Amino acid sequence: VLATGGAGMMHKATTNPSIATGDGVAMASRSGADIRDMEFIQFHPTALHSNNPRPFLITEALRGHGAELMTIEEYSVWKKNGVGVDPSEHSFMLNYSPMGSLGTRDVVARAIDSEMKRSGDPHVLLVTEHLDKGDLEDSFPTISKRLREEGIEIGVSPIPVTPAAHYMVGGVAVDGLGRVECKGAPMPGLYAIGEVARTGLHGANRLASNSLLEAVVYSGRASRDIIERWKNGDLGEFIGRLPRWRSEDLGLLIENMPLITDLAALRSTMTQDVGLVKSDYRLERAERRVEHIEKEVSRYWKSCKPTQELIELRNLVLVSKLVVDASKSRRNNVGLHFNMDLV
Ligand SMILES: Cc1cc2nc3c(=O)[nH]c(=O)nc-3n(C[C@H](O)[C@H](O)[C@H](O)COP(=O)(O)OP(=O)(O)OC[C@H]3O[C@@H](n4cnc5c(N)ncnc54)[C@H](O)[C@@H]3O)c2cc1C
Repeated sequence: VLATGGAGMMHKATTNPSIATGDGVAMASRSGADIRDMEFIQFHPTALHSNNPRPFLITEALRGHGAELMTIEEYSVWKKNGVGVDPSEHSFMLNYSPMGSLGTRDVVARAIDSEMKRSGDPHVLLVTEHLDKGDLEDSFPTISKRLREEGIEIGVSPIPVTPAAHYMVGGVAVDGLGRVECKGAPMPGLYAIGEVARTGLHGANRLASNSLLEAVVYSGRASRDIIERWKNGDLGEFIGRLPRWRSEDLGLLIENMPLITDLAALRSTMTQDVGLVKSDYRLERAERRVEHIEKEVSRYWKSCKPTQELIELRNLVLVSKLVVDASKSRRNNVGLHFNMDLV
Protein backbone atom coordinates (compact mmCIF):
# COMPACT_ATOMS: atom_id res chain seq x y z
CA VAL A 1 0.00 0.00 0.00
CA LEU A 2 1.51 3.30 -1.08
CA ALA A 3 0.90 5.94 1.61
CA THR A 4 3.88 8.22 1.09
CA GLY A 5 2.11 11.60 1.18
CA GLY A 6 2.68 14.56 -1.15
CA ALA A 7 5.55 16.21 -3.00
CA GLY A 8 5.73 19.73 -1.57
CA MET A 9 9.53 19.52 -1.53
CA MET A 10 9.60 20.24 -5.27
CA HIS A 11 8.81 23.87 -4.38
CA LYS A 12 11.01 26.45 -2.67
CA ALA A 13 8.49 27.11 0.09
CA THR A 14 6.20 24.37 1.33
CA THR A 15 4.12 23.65 4.40
CA ASN A 16 4.89 19.94 3.93
CA PRO A 17 7.35 17.90 5.99
CA SER A 18 10.73 17.06 4.42
CA ILE A 19 9.55 13.52 3.59
CA ALA A 20 7.14 14.96 0.99
CA THR A 21 9.35 14.04 -1.96
CA GLY A 22 6.78 12.28 -4.12
CA ASP A 23 8.36 8.83 -3.65
CA GLY A 24 5.07 6.97 -4.09
CA VAL A 25 4.10 8.77 -7.29
CA ALA A 26 7.58 8.25 -8.73
CA MET A 27 7.68 4.54 -7.87
CA ALA A 28 4.17 3.94 -9.20
CA SER A 29 4.92 5.89 -12.36
CA ARG A 30 8.04 3.82 -13.03
CA SER A 31 5.90 0.69 -12.56
CA GLY A 32 3.53 1.85 -15.29
CA ALA A 33 0.68 3.03 -13.04
CA ASP A 34 -1.65 5.77 -14.27
CA ILE A 35 -0.72 9.18 -12.84
CA ARG A 36 -3.40 11.85 -13.14
CA ASP A 37 -4.16 15.51 -12.39
CA MET A 38 -0.58 16.43 -11.49
CA GLU A 39 -1.17 19.99 -12.76
CA PHE A 40 -3.34 20.67 -9.70
CA ILE A 41 -0.95 21.69 -6.91
CA GLN A 42 -2.57 23.65 -4.11
CA PHE A 43 -0.69 26.55 -2.53
CA HIS A 44 -1.60 27.80 0.91
CA PRO A 45 -1.84 31.59 0.58
CA THR A 46 -0.45 32.61 3.94
CA ALA A 47 2.66 30.87 5.20
CA LEU A 48 4.90 32.94 7.43
CA HIS A 49 7.72 34.50 5.40
CA SER A 50 10.96 33.46 7.07
CA ASN A 51 14.26 31.79 6.29
CA ASN A 52 12.82 28.49 7.44
CA PRO A 53 12.45 26.21 4.35
CA ARG A 54 9.31 24.77 5.93
CA PRO A 55 7.40 27.90 6.83
CA PHE A 56 4.83 28.05 9.59
CA LEU A 57 1.27 28.11 8.31
CA ILE A 58 -0.94 31.05 9.31
CA THR A 59 -4.46 29.65 9.36
CA GLU A 60 -7.10 31.13 7.08
CA ALA A 61 -9.29 31.42 10.18
CA LEU A 62 -7.25 34.52 11.06
CA ARG A 63 -8.65 36.23 7.97
CA GLY A 64 -12.06 34.88 8.94
CA HIS A 65 -11.48 36.71 12.23
CA GLY A 66 -10.89 40.02 10.42
CA ALA A 67 -7.19 40.09 9.50
CA GLU A 68 -6.54 41.88 6.19
CA LEU A 69 -3.96 41.35 3.48
CA MET A 70 -1.98 44.39 2.29
CA THR A 71 1.14 45.04 0.29
CA ILE A 72 3.99 46.72 2.16
CA GLU A 73 3.13 49.96 0.35
CA GLU A 74 -0.60 49.74 1.17
CA TYR A 75 0.26 49.11 4.79
CA SER A 76 2.38 52.25 5.08
CA VAL A 77 -0.40 54.34 3.46
CA TRP A 78 -2.96 52.86 5.85
CA LYS A 79 -0.72 53.65 8.84
CA LYS A 80 -0.25 57.21 7.57
CA ASN A 81 -4.02 57.69 7.23
CA GLY A 82 -4.55 56.49 10.78
CA VAL A 83 -5.47 52.92 11.65
CA GLY A 84 -9.07 54.00 12.34
CA VAL A 85 -9.74 53.70 8.58
CA ASP A 86 -11.31 50.37 7.55
CA PRO A 87 -8.22 48.32 6.58
CA SER A 88 -10.12 46.32 3.97
CA GLU A 89 -10.33 49.49 1.85
CA HIS A 90 -6.54 49.39 1.61
CA SER A 91 -6.26 45.75 0.64
CA PHE A 92 -5.18 44.78 -2.89
CA MET A 93 -7.52 41.82 -2.50
CA LEU A 94 -10.51 43.97 -3.50
CA ASN A 95 -8.98 44.14 -7.00
CA TYR A 96 -9.10 40.35 -7.23
CA SER A 97 -12.27 39.29 -5.44
CA PRO A 98 -15.45 41.01 -4.20
CA MET A 99 -14.86 39.02 -1.01
CA GLY A 100 -11.54 40.82 -0.48
CA SER A 101 -9.22 39.00 1.91
CA LEU A 102 -11.86 36.30 2.37
CA GLY A 103 -11.58 35.12 -1.24
CA THR A 104 -11.04 31.43 -1.89
CA ARG A 105 -7.60 29.89 -1.32
CA ASP A 106 -6.60 29.75 -5.00
CA VAL A 107 -7.77 33.32 -5.72
CA VAL A 108 -5.96 34.74 -2.68
CA ALA A 109 -2.75 32.78 -3.36
CA ARG A 110 -2.66 33.92 -7.00
CA ALA A 111 -3.40 37.53 -6.02
CA ILE A 112 -0.51 37.53 -3.52
CA ASP A 113 1.78 35.99 -6.14
CA SER A 114 0.81 38.70 -8.67
CA GLU A 115 1.37 41.51 -6.15
CA MET A 116 4.76 40.11 -5.13
CA LYS A 117 5.81 39.77 -8.78
CA ARG A 118 4.60 43.33 -9.52
CA SER A 119 6.25 45.01 -6.53
CA GLY A 120 9.31 42.78 -6.26
CA ASP A 121 8.61 42.47 -2.52
CA PRO A 122 9.46 39.11 -0.95
CA HIS A 123 6.09 38.95 0.87
CA VAL A 124 2.81 40.74 1.59
CA LEU A 125 1.48 41.57 5.04
CA LEU A 126 -1.34 40.12 7.09
CA VAL A 127 -2.56 42.99 9.24
CA THR A 128 -4.18 42.44 12.64
CA GLU A 129 -3.56 45.74 14.44
CA HIS A 130 -7.20 46.85 14.10
CA LEU A 131 -8.33 43.74 16.03
CA ASP A 132 -8.40 43.12 19.78
CA LYS A 133 -5.01 41.72 20.85
CA GLY A 134 -6.35 39.77 23.85
CA ASP A 135 -9.10 38.19 21.76
CA LEU A 136 -6.58 37.22 19.05
CA GLU A 137 -4.28 35.62 21.63
CA ASP A 138 -7.20 33.66 23.13
CA SER A 139 -8.49 32.53 19.74
CA PHE A 140 -5.09 31.72 18.18
CA PRO A 141 -2.78 30.74 21.06
CA THR A 142 -0.41 28.56 18.98
CA ILE A 143 0.00 31.12 16.23
CA SER A 144 0.50 33.93 18.78
CA LYS A 145 3.21 31.93 20.56
CA ARG A 146 4.94 30.91 17.35
CA LEU A 147 4.89 34.48 16.00
CA ARG A 148 6.33 35.78 19.26
CA GLU A 149 9.25 33.36 18.82
CA GLU A 150 9.85 35.08 15.46
CA GLY A 151 9.71 38.51 17.10
CA ILE A 152 6.20 39.31 15.82
CA GLU A 153 3.45 40.37 18.22
CA ILE A 154 -0.05 39.47 17.01
CA GLY A 155 -2.40 42.48 17.11
CA VAL A 156 0.62 44.81 17.14
CA SER A 157 2.95 44.10 14.22
CA PRO A 158 2.06 43.08 10.65
CA ILE A 159 2.75 39.44 9.76
CA PRO A 160 4.85 38.86 6.60
CA VAL A 161 3.26 36.07 4.54
CA THR A 162 3.83 34.31 1.20
CA PRO A 163 2.09 31.41 -0.56
CA ALA A 164 3.64 27.96 -0.03
CA ALA A 165 3.05 24.63 -1.78
CA HIS A 166 0.56 22.77 0.37
CA TYR A 167 -1.24 19.84 -1.25
CA MET A 168 -0.87 17.55 -4.26
CA VAL A 169 -4.39 17.03 -5.64
CA GLY A 170 -3.27 14.62 -8.35
CA GLY A 171 -1.23 11.49 -7.90
CA VAL A 172 -1.46 7.74 -8.43
CA ALA A 173 -4.83 6.99 -10.02
CA VAL A 174 -6.94 4.64 -7.91
CA ASP A 175 -10.40 3.18 -8.22
CA GLY A 176 -13.11 3.45 -5.56
CA LEU A 177 -11.38 0.78 -3.45
CA GLY A 178 -7.96 2.45 -3.51
CA ARG A 179 -6.60 -0.04 -6.07
CA VAL A 180 -3.89 1.51 -8.26
CA GLU A 181 -4.85 1.65 -11.91
CA CYS A 182 -2.77 0.84 -14.97
CA LYS A 183 -4.39 1.88 -18.25
CA GLY A 184 -7.67 2.15 -16.37
CA ALA A 185 -7.60 -1.40 -14.91
CA PRO A 186 -6.51 -2.34 -11.35
CA MET A 187 -2.84 -3.34 -10.91
CA PRO A 188 -2.88 -6.58 -8.91
CA GLY A 189 -1.75 -6.16 -5.31
CA LEU A 190 -1.04 -2.41 -5.36
CA TYR A 191 -3.07 0.17 -3.43
CA ALA A 192 -2.57 3.89 -2.77
CA ILE A 193 -4.18 5.94 -0.02
CA GLY A 194 -3.85 9.48 1.32
CA GLU A 195 -2.21 12.35 -0.51
CA VAL A 196 -0.25 10.08 -2.86
CA ALA A 197 -3.52 8.83 -4.35
CA ARG A 198 -5.60 10.56 -6.97
CA THR A 199 -9.15 9.53 -6.13
CA GLY A 200 -10.83 12.34 -8.06
CA LEU A 201 -12.71 13.43 -4.95
CA HIS A 202 -10.97 16.82 -4.86
CA GLY A 203 -11.80 17.62 -8.48
CA ALA A 204 -9.41 20.33 -9.66
CA ASN A 205 -9.30 22.25 -6.39
CA ARG A 206 -9.31 20.70 -2.92
CA LEU A 207 -11.48 22.33 -0.28
CA ALA A 208 -9.66 22.79 3.02
CA SER A 209 -9.81 19.75 5.33
CA ASN A 210 -11.18 17.29 2.78
CA SER A 211 -7.91 15.40 2.50
CA LEU A 212 -8.17 13.83 5.93
CA LEU A 213 -11.73 12.74 5.20
CA GLU A 214 -10.61 11.25 1.91
CA ALA A 215 -7.66 9.48 3.52
CA VAL A 216 -9.84 7.91 6.21
CA VAL A 217 -12.57 6.77 3.81
CA TYR A 218 -10.14 5.26 1.29
CA SER A 219 -7.96 3.60 3.96
CA GLY A 220 -11.08 1.88 5.27
CA ARG A 221 -12.18 0.75 1.83
CA ALA A 222 -8.69 -0.42 0.82
CA SER A 223 -8.09 -2.35 4.04
CA ARG A 224 -11.45 -4.12 3.77
CA ASP A 225 -10.75 -5.00 0.15
CA ILE A 226 -7.24 -6.31 0.97
CA ILE A 227 -8.55 -8.49 3.83
CA GLU A 228 -11.32 -9.84 1.65
CA ARG A 229 -8.96 -10.68 -1.23
CA TRP A 230 -6.34 -12.13 1.10
CA LYS A 231 -8.97 -14.45 2.60
CA ASN A 232 -9.92 -15.58 -0.91
CA GLY A 233 -6.27 -15.98 -2.01
CA ASP A 234 -6.97 -13.30 -4.59
CA LEU A 235 -4.29 -10.65 -3.94
CA GLY A 236 -2.16 -11.63 -6.93
CA GLU A 237 1.59 -12.26 -7.07
CA PHE A 238 3.81 -9.26 -6.79
CA ILE A 239 6.91 -9.62 -4.63
CA GLY A 240 8.14 -12.71 -6.47
CA ARG A 241 8.46 -10.83 -9.74
CA LEU A 242 10.67 -7.97 -8.47
CA PRO A 243 14.09 -7.82 -10.13
CA ARG A 244 17.04 -8.23 -7.76
CA TRP A 245 18.67 -4.94 -6.79
CA ARG A 246 22.47 -4.93 -7.08
CA SER A 247 24.71 -2.05 -6.09
CA GLU A 248 28.00 -3.83 -5.33
CA ASP A 249 29.69 -2.43 -8.43
CA LEU A 250 28.68 1.15 -7.76
CA GLY A 251 31.02 3.69 -6.16
CA LEU A 252 30.25 5.87 -3.18
CA LEU A 253 28.88 9.34 -3.79
CA ILE A 254 31.94 11.48 -3.09
CA GLU A 255 30.39 14.94 -3.04
CA ASN A 256 26.92 15.80 -1.81
CA MET A 257 27.04 19.43 -2.94
CA PRO A 258 26.01 18.80 -6.59
CA LEU A 259 22.83 17.11 -5.34
CA ILE A 260 22.06 20.10 -3.12
CA THR A 261 22.63 22.46 -6.04
CA ASP A 262 20.44 20.37 -8.36
CA LEU A 263 17.66 20.23 -5.77
CA ALA A 264 17.80 24.01 -5.30
CA ALA A 265 17.67 24.51 -9.08
CA LEU A 266 14.71 22.15 -9.40
CA ARG A 267 12.77 23.85 -6.61
CA SER A 268 13.50 27.28 -8.03
CA THR A 269 12.33 26.26 -11.52
CA MET A 270 9.15 24.63 -10.25
CA THR A 271 8.27 27.65 -8.12
CA GLN A 272 9.05 30.31 -10.73
CA ASP A 273 7.71 28.58 -13.81
CA VAL A 274 5.26 25.88 -12.72
CA GLY A 275 3.82 27.54 -9.63
CA LEU A 276 0.67 29.55 -9.10
CA VAL A 277 0.74 31.30 -12.47
CA LYS A 278 1.99 29.32 -15.46
CA SER A 279 2.47 30.31 -19.09
CA ASP A 280 3.35 28.36 -22.22
CA TYR A 281 6.80 29.98 -22.28
CA ARG A 282 7.42 29.23 -18.59
CA LEU A 283 6.38 25.61 -19.04
CA GLU A 284 8.68 25.16 -22.05
CA ARG A 285 11.55 26.65 -20.06
CA ALA A 286 10.76 24.45 -17.06
CA GLU A 287 10.69 21.39 -19.29
CA ARG A 288 14.19 22.14 -20.61
CA ARG A 289 15.55 22.83 -17.14
CA VAL A 290 14.02 19.75 -15.54
CA GLU A 291 15.36 17.60 -18.38
CA HIS A 292 18.83 19.03 -17.80
CA ILE A 293 18.66 18.28 -14.06
CA GLU A 294 17.34 14.80 -14.84
CA LYS A 295 20.42 14.07 -16.96
CA GLU A 296 22.74 15.22 -14.17
CA VAL A 297 20.94 13.17 -11.53
CA SER A 298 20.81 10.16 -13.82
CA ARG A 299 24.63 10.20 -14.08
CA TYR A 300 24.91 9.92 -10.29
CA TRP A 301 22.18 7.32 -10.17
CA LYS A 302 24.00 5.07 -12.63
CA SER A 303 27.42 5.37 -11.02
CA CYS A 304 26.87 5.81 -7.26
CA LYS A 305 25.40 3.75 -4.47
CA PRO A 306 22.01 5.28 -3.71
CA THR A 307 21.71 7.58 -0.72
CA GLN A 308 18.43 8.93 0.65
CA GLU A 309 19.22 12.36 -0.85
CA LEU A 310 19.90 10.86 -4.27
CA ILE A 311 16.77 8.68 -4.23
CA GLU A 312 14.56 11.58 -3.15
CA LEU A 313 16.03 13.98 -5.70
CA ARG A 314 15.56 11.43 -8.48
CA ASN A 315 11.94 10.99 -7.42
CA LEU A 316 11.34 14.73 -7.18
CA VAL A 317 12.73 15.19 -10.69
CA LEU A 318 10.34 12.58 -12.06
CA VAL A 319 7.36 14.07 -10.21
CA SER A 320 8.31 17.54 -11.47
CA LYS A 321 8.37 16.19 -15.02
CA LEU A 322 4.90 14.75 -14.50
CA VAL A 323 3.66 18.14 -13.23
CA VAL A 324 5.19 19.98 -16.20
CA ASP A 325 3.77 17.45 -18.70
CA ALA A 326 0.30 17.58 -17.16
CA SER A 327 0.41 21.39 -17.07
CA LYS A 328 1.40 21.56 -20.73
CA SER A 329 -1.37 19.16 -21.70
CA ARG A 330 -4.13 21.01 -19.85
CA ARG A 331 -5.50 23.58 -22.32
CA ASN A 332 -8.13 25.17 -20.09
CA ASN A 333 -7.84 27.08 -16.84
CA VAL A 334 -9.67 25.21 -14.14
CA GLY A 335 -9.31 24.99 -10.37
CA LEU A 336 -5.68 25.11 -9.33
CA HIS A 337 -4.30 25.19 -12.87
CA PHE A 338 -3.82 28.71 -14.21
CA ASN A 339 -1.96 29.40 -17.45
CA MET A 340 -2.03 33.10 -18.37
CA ASP A 341 -1.84 32.26 -22.09
CA LEU A 342 -5.22 30.54 -21.80
CA VAL A 343 -7.08 33.55 -20.37
C1 LIG B 1 0.66 22.13 7.82
C2 LIG B 1 -0.44 21.31 7.23
C3 LIG B 1 -1.74 21.46 7.67
C4 LIG B 1 -2.76 20.69 7.12
N1 LIG B 1 -4.03 20.83 7.59
C5 LIG B 1 -5.00 20.03 7.12
C6 LIG B 1 -6.31 20.09 7.64
O1 LIG B 1 -6.60 20.89 8.54
N2 LIG B 1 -7.25 19.25 7.13
C7 LIG B 1 -6.97 18.36 6.14
O2 LIG B 1 -7.84 17.61 5.71
N3 LIG B 1 -5.73 18.28 5.62
C8 LIG B 1 -4.75 19.09 6.09
N4 LIG B 1 -3.49 19.00 5.56
C9 LIG B 1 -3.23 17.99 4.54
C10 LIG B 1 -3.10 16.63 5.22
O3 LIG B 1 -2.51 16.79 6.49
C11 LIG B 1 -2.21 15.72 4.40
O4 LIG B 1 -2.72 15.64 3.11
C12 LIG B 1 -2.20 14.33 5.02
O5 LIG B 1 -1.62 14.37 6.31
C13 LIG B 1 -1.41 13.37 4.17
O6 LIG B 1 -1.44 12.13 4.83
P1 LIG B 1 -0.71 10.89 4.21
O7 LIG B 1 -0.88 9.78 5.20
O8 LIG B 1 -1.15 10.68 2.82
O9 LIG B 1 0.81 11.33 4.14
P2 LIG B 1 1.80 11.77 5.32
O10 LIG B 1 1.06 12.10 6.56
O11 LIG B 1 2.70 12.80 4.73
O12 LIG B 1 2.61 10.46 5.62
C14 LIG B 1 3.47 9.91 4.67
C15 LIG B 1 4.34 8.90 5.39
O13 LIG B 1 5.07 8.14 4.43
C16 LIG B 1 6.42 8.09 4.83
N5 LIG B 1 7.23 7.96 3.61
C17 LIG B 1 7.36 8.84 2.59
N6 LIG B 1 8.17 8.35 1.64
C18 LIG B 1 8.56 7.12 2.06
C19 LIG B 1 9.39 6.11 1.51
N7 LIG B 1 10.00 6.26 0.34
N8 LIG B 1 9.57 4.97 2.22
C20 LIG B 1 8.95 4.79 3.41
N9 LIG B 1 8.15 5.72 3.98
C21 LIG B 1 7.96 6.86 3.31
C22 LIG B 1 6.67 9.38 5.56
O14 LIG B 1 7.78 9.29 6.42
C23 LIG B 1 5.36 9.56 6.31
O15 LIG B 1 5.37 8.87 7.53
C24 LIG B 1 -2.47 19.76 6.10
C25 LIG B 1 -1.15 19.61 5.65
C26 LIG B 1 -0.14 20.37 6.20
C27 LIG B 1 1.25 20.18 5.69
